[in-house]
Amino acid sequence: MISVKDAKNKLYKSVKKMPATIKNISDITGYFLSESIKSPVDLPPFDQSAMDGFAVNFDDTVGNMNNEFSFLIIGEIKAGDKPIKFLKKNTAVYIYTGAAVPINSTCVVMQEKAVVKKGSVTISLSDLKTVSNIRSKGSEIKKGQVALTKGHQINPASIGFLCSMGIDKIKVIDKPILSVLSTGNELQRPGKKLSPGKIYESNSLMLESVIKECGYEISKINSVKDVKDKISFCINNMIKTSDVILISGGISVGKYDLVKEILHNLGVREIFYKVLQKPGKPLYAGKYKDKLVFALPGNPAASLTCFYEYVLPCLNKMSGHSEFELNKKFFPLSKPYELKGEKDLFLKAKIENDMIAILEGQGSNILRSFTESNAIVFLNSGNKLLKKGSYVETHILPKSL
Ligand code: AMP
Ligand code: MG
Repeated sequence: MISVKDAKNKLYKSVKKMPATIKNISDITGYFLSESIKSPVDLPPFDQSAMDGFAVNFDDTVGNMNNEFSFLIIGEIKAGDKPIKFLKKNTAVYIYTGAAVPINSTCVVMQEKAVVKKGSVTISLSDLKTVSNIRSKGSEIKKGQVALTKGHQINPASIGFLCSMGIDKIKVIDKPILSVLSTGNELQRPGKKLSPGKIYESNSLMLESVIKECGYEISKINSVKDVKDKISFCINNMIKTSDVILISGGISVGKYDLVKEILHNLGVREIFYKVLQKPGKPLYAGKYKDKLVFALPGNPAASLTCFYEYVLPCLNKMSGHSEFELNKKFFPLSKPYELKGEKDLFLKAKIENDMIAILEGQGSNILRSFTESNAIVFLNSGNKLLKKGSYVETHILPKSL
C-alpha cells in the first residue's frame, strides 16, 4: 500500500495547470493571472487635486514681503470638468477633489486654510510652501509599467485596480469544473421518512458545499444504486462535462464495490489505489486524458478528509496556486494523545487559544466532530505517547482562521 507522502507526490506530479482564457472582470475574483498585466494608461491620467481647495502657483508670490498672499478667484473646476490649462498670474481657481489641476499650479491649498473675501483668497506663505495636495499624473502607475504580475491571485483590490486602468477583460487560468456521483443501494435523499435498512445520503451535498466554499463550480451532481451499468453511464457523462470527477462509495473490496472495475473498463488510468492512512484507506485517484478522477471512500468523514487532503490541493494546483495544499502550521497539543498503529492519521481537530485539541469521535463515519473542527492534525504512524504541549502538524481548514 502506498504511503500518504508518496500518494500525494504521485498525484501532484500528474496534475497540470488548466488552460488560460479571457474572462470578464466581473467573473475573475480568486482566479490567477496567466501573464503579467501592463497598465495601458497613466494613473491618475492627469495631475489631480487631492483636496477641496484652491489651486494656485507659488511662483506668483516670489518677491512678496508679507507672510500671506492674495489671489483673485477666477472660477471653479469640479471633478469631471474639462481642465483649465493655465492659471494667469496672481489668480486662483476653486478646485474639488479628483478634478484636473491647471498645468502651472504648484499646489492646492485646502479650503480650511484659505480666507475668502470679495472674490479673492488669502493664503499664508508657509501653507503655500509646504503643501502640494496634487496627485501627479502617473504617480500610482505609468503607462506601460507592470501593474500585476503573472501568478497574482485576483482579489477585490485587484478588480478595483484593473477597473481604474480601464481594463474590463483579462486572461486568467481557468478553474476546473467538478461533478459528483454518490453510489450505494442504501442511500436515500434527506427530506423523506427513512425506509428500513436505508440511511440518508450525506456525501454529495456535503461535497457540493465544500467545493463551493473553496471557490469551485459543479456541473453535475447525481446519486445511483450499486448497479454497474448505471454507475458506468453516469461516470461516462461526468467525464464529458467536467475536469475533475468525484465518486463517493463503492471503492472498497466488497462484492458491491464496483467503482474500481468500472473505471478500469472506461479507460481511466490509476494513479494510486489504497493509501496507508486512517481514515480513507480505500482512496483511489486516476486520470482519463487530462481529467482527474477520484473515488472517495463512502464513509462521510473519510470522504471529506480525502477531499481536503487530496482533491482540494489538485483543484488549487490546476487553478494556478503555488501554495496549493491546506495551510500547514505546528501547534502544541492541549491534551496528551496516544499514537498507535501502522497508518498515518488525519485527525479532526480544533485550534483554540493557540493550542490544538484532537476531538472525540475520530471514526471515519463521524461527521459530528467534523462540524466543530477547524483543522486536521496529521500524524505519521507509530506507537508512542504524545505529551501535552508536543507540537503537531496541523492543516488549517479553508476559511477557518
Ligand atoms: P462504501 O464505501 O460504499 O463501502 O460505504 C462505506 C460506508 O459509508 C457505508 O456505511 C455506507 O453506507 C456509507 N456511505 C456510502 N456512501 C454514502 C453517502 N453518500 N452518504 C452517507 N453515507 C454513505
Ligand atoms: Mg457502497
